Amino acid sequence: MKKTSLQFLQTHLNMANTVDDFALGLFGEASMDNKGDRTPYSLFIEAVEQVPIAISITDKKANILYVNQEFSRVTGYQPEDVLGENESLLSDKRTPKDVYYDLWHTIRSKKVWRGTLCNRHKFGHRYLADLTIAPMLDEQGKVTHYIGMHKDITRSYESEKKIINQKLLIESVINSSPIAMVVIDNQDRVILDNHMYKVLVTDLDKGEPALYFLQLLRNEMGDLWSQLQSNEQGFNNREFKVEGKGHQRPRWFSCAGNWFMENEVDADAFFENASKQYLILTITDITRQRRQMEELHIQTLKTIMSEDEGVRGIRETLLGAIHQIQMPMNQIRAAEQILRLKRDERQASLLQILQQIQQSGEEAIATMQNCIPEILQAAVVPVNLNQILHEVLLLSDQRILCMGIDVHWHPQSDLPSILGSENRLRILFKQLIDNAIGAIGISSTGEQRLKITTHADADLIYVSIEDSGPGIPIEKRAKVFEPFYTTRPMGGNQAGMGLVMAKEIVNQHQGFIDIDPGYDQGCRLKISFPLHRQELRRLT
Ligand code: FAD
Repeated sequence: MKKTSLQFLQTHLNMANTVDDFALGLFGEASMDNKGDRTPYSLFIEAVEQVPIAISITDKKANILYVNQEFSRVTGYQPEDVLGENESLLSDKRTPKDVYYDLWHTIRSKKVWRGTLCNRHKFGHRYLADLTIAPMLDEQGKVTHYIGMHKDITRSYESEKKIINQKLLIESVINSSPIAMVVIDNQDRVILDNHMYKVLVTDLDKGEPALYFLQLLRNEMGDLWSQLQSNEQGFNNREFKVEGKGHQRPRWFSCAGNWFMENEVDADAFFENASKQYLILTITDITRQRRQMEELHIQTLKTIMSEDEGVRGIRETLLGAIHQIQMPMNQIRAAEQILRLKRDERQASLLQILQQIQQSGEEAIATMQNCIPEILQAAVVPVNLNQILHEVLLLSDQRILCMGIDVHWHPQSDLPSILGSENRLRILFKQLIDNAIGAIGISSTGEQRLKITTHADADLIYVSIEDSGPGIPIEKRAKVFEPFYTTRPMGGNQAGMGLVMAKEIVNQHQGFIDIDPGYDQGCRLKISFPLHRQELRRLT
């Protein structure tokens, strides 16, 4: 008859008097009841037999003396297959030698070893054993036996690995994305980010980029932000301009976000479901697209402006010519009146000639007046002067670059808008900036500086255009706003109408334009406009 596990152990325990003694050795005080009596041996044996963990007891050389039912279930080996055999029977020989070395070194030093081994089931398949080996000591503290406890963790390891693999896969997909992605928890802490996001951290110089963009988004969306958050509704295409580091050009980013809930995994949430909200924020650098759009816009503006300049040139030339003809015409008219009053018959033919000249002169003026092209009425909309000035600077950038002009551009961020015609305002500032560039070109100081600033107070928006040119002498400052007055030689479409037209546009926008009398290092024009009424309401 085959020996059971227990009989085998009993036979082996020639040094222990009874199995009760061995149980005491195994379970120590736990094998005593609260009166200090030994609990029945069978109770312990039954407990060990039925415990759902594979238990084996070996001698000092790992020869198996006892195995429980779970051991047979996990390994496939019945007690009669393994009793007397070495535990190495279970080894698949894939476990590195170092692991065994560590195992033996630990248990021989009378310590508990914990680790994972690759075991081979009786039927040949491998499984992962989560193993704990504890040494058992005699009264002298010498190792007498080892007790091994193991579980098959193949399934949980597989699931764990699958999750890790999925996480790695997701991470590599996210990392290879050209879009910066970041997961933020409900306390604005960055939980996960990708490679592009890390690039932004160093590139932007704005601290934690997620916090910077969150601030911009919250400011821009106001109450909408919390509405979307509580309804877990996403948002997209929120575009922001970010000023570059030092002299770097500004960059543009488009933000999109989606909220999601994750179930809490800590012990507190085991019986009571608890979840936490996270935001996936994606930040796309759209600077290239923006610049392309801007270039296209500038090209279109250049075309519109050059057409407009052509029209203005014709207008100014014709107005200049009419103005020039008016003087001799006035003289002829005066001569004709004198002759008419004299009623001298001898001068009758001269009078007739003068009248004919006068008539054809007036016809010529009328023809010219009819030829003056109309300037079309433009739509009145809220206009951001920073944008207009920025565009005009871009329109003039070739001249600015060629002349090596040092441009100091100081726009007030969040400048309120004015109500006006975009195109007329563009013409106004193009005229003023062209004048400034022209003045810098003839400056004898050697300094090539153009400074443009914008700012606003409660009622007005101020623009200042300052150049390092020769300036306008005090006695000429009032005259430059008069028609056909120019400090430069007349000709072409430079008919001295630039500042007249500028003043007219400023007036149309209920603004003021002045030459700053206190500025003596060139010319500084100060222009002011009333705030757009809605902006006023917003400010008050
Ligand atoms: P082995 O030649 O047996 O040993 C490899 C290395 O282990 C040796 O080079 C040596 O460094 C060390 N070693 C082996 N025996 C001793 C010893 N008696 N004293 C000091 N060092 C020694 N192994 C498993 O693979 N799966 C198990 O589930 C498992 N359970 C165990 C349970 C208990 C209670 C004990 C004590 C050991 C258990 N072992 C288990 C370890 C097993 O006994 C073998 O050491 C291991 O399987 C390696 O066997 P091997 O034939 O490949 O090499």
